[in-house]
Amino acid sequence: MEFSSKLLEQAVYEMSQLPGIGKRTALRLVLHLLQQPEAQTEQLTEALTGLRTGIKFCKNCHNISDTELCEICANPNRESAIVCVVEDVRDVMAIENTSQYRGHYHVLGGKISPLDGIGPQDLTIYSLIEKVKSGAIEEIIFALSSTMEGDTTNFYIYRQLEGLNVKTSTIARGIAVGDELEFADEVTLGRSILNRIPFENSLKH
Ligand SMILES: [Zn+2]
Repeated sequence: MEFSSKLLEQAVYEMSQLPGIGKRTALRLVLHLLQQPEAQTEQLTEALTGLRTGIKFCKNCHNISDTELCEICANPNRESAIVCVVEDVRDVMAIENTSQYRGHYHVLGGKISPLDGIGPQDLTIYSLIEKVKSGAIEEIIFALSSTMEGDTTNFYIYRQLEGLNVKTSTIARGIAVGDELEFADEVTLGRSILNRIPFENSLKH
């Protein structure tokens, strides 16, 4: 691609670094921005800068937050003894949208995936186990997507929790194997949390 401007070229290059954005799409987006009022580009720039400088990870559940403790963990009306284990913030948003869950979360930051070089030490599993060891947790609900990586991760955590005084359950699947949690419809997902089953039962299939 031949550019008439170095500035244009650089903007297109940076935009094309985003997933799913090729050079052509990047060029279209950049030209679109140029046609918009300058204030709009400034707001976008501010939002992106704020994202990197201002965002924190909740010190209790590791969810993305603006504050040390996220709104869910800081809410006294939530049941802190029930912890739903999820992969990332998208799962928290999906479950929150169902309005069926009143407990806390624990955001792992991914799933165990040897092929991608992601091991237990790359996730927040250790802090989850420590939380359970402290005795403050009554129930752990596994809500990872039912892919091979999700199952591996659930099982790894389950083994780490053996011998500790905590109930483990898994969300009942109206959701087909391989479906990502974030795409499940709200009614199905809400029901599957209410109708969760003991984790042991999920191992027999
Ligand atoms: Zn939190």
